[in-house]
Amino acid sequence: MEFFDSHSHYNDEKFDEDRDKIIEETYKSGITKIVCAGYNIKSSLMSLELSKKNEFIYSICGISPNDIPQSEQELWKDIAEITKIVTQNKNKKLVAIGEIGLDYYWNKENKELQKQAFIKQIGLANKLNLPIVIHSRDASIDTIDIIKNYKVNKTGIFHCCQPNQEMVRQALELGYYISFAGPITFKNAKNSIDVVKMVPIEKILIETDSPYLSPEPNRGKRNDCRNVKFVAQKIADLKEISIEEVAKITYENTMKIFGI
Ligand SMILES: [Zn+2]
Repeated sequence: MEFFDSHSHYNDEKFDEDRDKIIEETYKSGITKIVCAGYNIKSSLMSLELSKKNEFIYSICGISPNDIPQSEQELWKDIAEITKIVTQNKNKKLVAIGEIGLDYYWNKENKELQKQAFIKQIGLANKLNLPIVIHSRDASIDTIDIIKNYKVNKTGIFHCCQPNQEMVRQALELGYYISFAGPITFKNAKNSIDVVKMVPIEKILIETDSPYLSPEPNRGKRNDCRNVKFVAQKIADLKEISIEEVAKITYENTMKIFGI
């Protein structure tokens, strides 16, 4: 059985001590493809570097809503920089622009700048003919509004999807994929479970979002890509199919949306 972890952060400093070892163990344990997601300039550069060094790692680059600079001027500087980086490094292993989007849970004060950064980076994805990976937290209405008004040619993925049925319904209608992470395994995950049930398996991706959000039974510990199996098992239980099927179908879905 092989798994594709569609979203992780081996570029995070929490892996500085043992990154190479964890990467090796990840592959050995059957996680034979992973995406390493950037969220600002530095982490995007590192995700590119990891994808160049490791055959099975793919990269995505972008400025996340939680990494928006204070001023508009600085934001444009960062956007120009990320544009330069992805244009210069455009290769088969750079598979999307992300993670990008809106986060009104952590940042309520700069909604306008978040929106501008999101829209600008949608433009970048379209220019490079890439899909996007969306981070949306407590911002479902504005997120849907933006992807409706600024159409992404290759669509994309709602990563670590929040259990918001209306948002998911609209995302599916617009042709997006839905990626589930550790929280669907948590004991209080009633809403998430309803959302998993409403998404057809052909539209589901699995991820860890490591080093955060470790699934049960490893909740609270540092997460790594090997734990994606627990997310797959939960989906198998909810969909009443085998974990082998979940592994295979989500693998194919991920290859398809990222054009691998
Ligand atoms: Zn992430």
